Amino acid sequence: MSSTSSLDGFDINTLISDRADSIDASGIRRIFALAASLNDPINLSIGQPDFVVPEAIRKAAIDAIDQHTNGYTLTQGLPGLLAKVNDWLAFDLGWDVKTVNTPNHTGPVSIVTSGTSGGLVLAFLALLNPGDECIIPDPYFVAYPHWATLCGAKAVTVDTYPDFKLTAERIEPMINEKTKFVLLNTPSNPAGVVMDKEECIKLRQLCRSKGVLLITDEIYDEFAFSDATTDSCASDPSMKRCPSPARIPGSDEDVLLIRGFGKTYGCTGWRLGYAAGPKAIIEQMAKLQQYTFVCAPAPLQAGAMACFETDMSGFVAEYQERRDLVLEKLGSLTEIATPGGAFYAFIKVPEHLGMTGTQFVEKAIERNLLTIPGGAFSAKDTHFRISFATALPKLTQGLDILAEMMAK
Ligand code: PMP
Repeated sequence: MSSTSSLDGFDINTLISDRADSIDASGIRRIFALAASLNDPINLSIGQPDFVVPEAIRKAAIDAIDQHTNGYTLTQGLPGLLAKVNDWLAFDLGWDVKTVNTPNHTGPVSIVTSGTSGGLVLAFLALLNPGDECIIPDPYFVAYPHWATLCGAKAVTVDTYPDFKLTAERIEPMINEKTKFVLLNTPSNPAGVVMDKEECIKLRQLCRSKGVLLITDEIYDEFAFSDATTDSCASDPSMKRCPSPARIPGSDEDVLLIRGFGKTYGCTGWRLGYAAGPKAIIEQMAKLQQYTFVCAPAPLQAGAMACFETDMSGFVAEYQERRDLVLEKLGSLTEIATPGGAFYAFIKVPEHLGMTGTQFVEKAIERNLLTIPGGAFSAKDTHFRISFATALPKLTQGLDILAEMMAK
């Protein structure tokens, strides 16, 4: 820690915790600083959808404000929203989910959280003692390792290059007596890769046999493309869904499911998600929520009640077309693991260029194009992430620049 002494010897820096100090956000900050100097860049770095929140959802939130739903809710969430979440999970997964404090219910329970991050942070806090380990994929969503650090624990990364699958085979050697959970993210950030059903079954089986919890971060579950939605909805086999370990019978005992509203409905700033799974864990998460986030924003929870009646399939189909364009323009120039969902592609910098991901991204910035270097998500800096949550004309322009840079 740097020390700047003032005249009376008071040094504010000495007050900062090691916990806060150990988090280094400088890599990604540098790119954002470079980006801030650009004029109207082609921005393929943004991790949120480019459509507006559907009107019915906006109206439900506005009505809730006007009708004075502005105070605290129960820490576990608005009963009306929880009822909809539970109905949806019964339909989708076949889980008999009840709200966290339901008497005489021993099955899985649910809570509404402050974003998907809120649910995940509560899970880390509820499960990790100092010195414990959890297993995460590399590349990973940027916050995962830091949440373990906040708990005094360690996120052990599993190299998933080049297909970015968190398979049982890759994880098994990393599990030891300190391991509390494995964190799966499907469809994934930064690669958009989707696990298939067989891989989900094997992963869940391994975790169960080792006495380790499987947490599944499914923030992008509704953003799964038609070629990746191969699993059957529990109640309607004709309805195809993104494969999930939570859809395996019995998984309500040993899988913690975390999903969100922000990406699916374009309302990332509303900070809404939900968690469902074993009662013993969710009860601890609810207690921790009571003394941290308190509750998710009340009128926005009311707004989210309209989400379950809102069909987003048109947007998902449009994102699939953009995914196809990415593969068409860049697929023959380098390695890209096909994104089955979300709105990201994690692209290898062609070896003949002899550049790291960061160097390639800096070169792209010189051409007014913004992407994120793979090193922000990984111990390796060989790739870069693009987001295709960008309107087609800008996306096409950006892809043409990348194609030119790769061909050189
Ligand atoms: N998990 C993953 C994989 C994500 O990509 C993100 C956001 N980019 C989050 C969690 C956090 O989402 P939220 O905004 O709902 O907290």
